[in-house]
Order: sequence, then C-alpha cells, then structure tokens
Amino acid sequence: MLLLTKNTYQEAGGQQKTMVIRDVCPRCQSSKYKKNGHIHNGKQNHRCQDCGRQFVACFEQSLISDNTRALIERLLVERISLRGICRAVGVNLKWLLSFLVQCFEALPDHLHVQSITCQQDVLIQRLEVEADEMASFVEKKVHKQWIWIALDAKSRQVIAFHVGDRSRKSAKRLWVKIPEAYRQHATFYTDQYVVYQGVIPAVRHRAIHKLARKTNHIERFNNTLRQRVSRLVREGLSFSKKLAHHIGAIKLFICHYNLMRAAA
Ligand SMILES: [Zn+2]
Repeated sequence: MLLLTKNTYQEAGGQQKTMVIRDVCPRCQSSKYKKNGHIHNGKQNHRCQDCGRQFVACFEQSLISDNTRALIERLLVERISLRGICRAVGVNLKWLLSFLVQCFEALPDHLHVQSITCQQDVLIQRLEVEADEMASFVEKKVHKQWIWIALDAKSRQVIAFHVGDRSRKSAKRLWVKIPEAYRQHATFYTDQYVVYQGVIPAVRHRAIHKLARKTNHIERFNNTLRQRVSRLVREGLSFSKKLAHHIGAIKLFICHYNLMRAAA
C-alpha cells in the first residue's frame, strides 16, 4: 500500500484526509489483479486473481490524530452513545467501530490490578474480596448475560470479571481469573447463591444476606458499570458481535476504573 502524504489535506469539517493508492492486493499482496466493475459510488473495483479479494485501488482515508484517539478512548467509558461520540469528535461510525475493536483487543487481561507481593504478609492475611453476579441484557431479554465481578474491598479494584450464564461453571470461570494471591489468602464475601459453594474454599467463604452486606461497594460499582456500558452496544450488529462488544466494553470500563482507583 502506498500512502501519498503529500496529498494530505484538510476537509471543511476539520478532519484530515489522505489519498491511499494500492498497487497490490490488500489481502495476499499479489500484484495480479483485474478490473471488476464498479462499486456503489462509481469507483473502479478490482479483483485479485490469486485470492479473489475485491478492492478499490484508490481511495481517501481519514487521518485521526493521536489526541483525538485518546479523547475517544476517554469518551468510551462515559455515558455517551457511539453516535454521540461520532458527532462530538467528527469521525464516522464505521471508523469508530473498528477503533473500538482495536481498543478492546489491546486491553490487558490483568485489568491493571495492583499486584500483591509476598513481602506484604500482613496485608495478605487481611485481604477481603466481594463477589457478585448481576444480570445484563444484550439486545433482548432472551439474551440475558450475567456479569460476575470480584472486587478487592480495600483497594476497590475489580480483580476479575466473567460474562456468561448464572451456573456454577461461570462461578468457576470467575474463580480461575482471580489473581493467585487472592485465591490463596483472601476472605470472600458473596450473597447466598448456592453456586459459590464448592468453588470458593469453605474456610474462606462468607455467604451473607444481601441486606446484611458488609459493604455495598460492589453494588455501587455494578450500577455505574450498567449505566456506562449499556450504550456501547450498538444496534444492527449480530448477536455474537454485540456480545463481543458487550464484554469488550465491560473490560474497557474495568481497566479504566482500576487505573482511577490506583491513582486515588
Ligand atoms: Zn489477493
């Protein structure tokens, strides 16, 4: 792919564009391709003779600055719709969706949880984790998904999450995502939902009545999460894409939240 930076120019809307000219197939890099009719906007279409991929050889591409990308990442964890972000920042929805997927894929599995070292023996003995599961909907009620959360009661960081059904299998999936130091040493507070039994070691498990909750950190977190994440799941995507976005949006919010907690 050839990037003609000298042709970079500013559009009336303020968005920088650049002209891209392809001389090879974008999929297999073959230079053997033929003209193949025109696409909807009248542009010449091509078809690769090696892999069959169809492509346009000459098109405009928006240049989105690093500052704008950083701003968008920040807006993604606020209660703003994707279309709202498009309007505010001046990007199109197609670009934003692909940027969103890039953001989701770049998120670390450690969720920015501060690690606990063995030198902190005293701290380890007093580790307390609250775990909870809450219902969330991806599109319709029939697509009910449960968000399982484990939260360090002191640091208030979310140390693990899992999205799935409400079974013991999901409880186990959450459990194995919890950092080792917590699984070894922490006391776990959950509601009386039976699936936690046999997953969390009995000696360190305290099943308590919802109303008698030791703290309500996790419930407050759940409310915030629900409000911020709900709008990131766009209509018009397939269910599996919606689910992937749903999980990605949850992970994005948790990573952001944990970084905020670490800085607090
Ligand atoms: Zn090809």
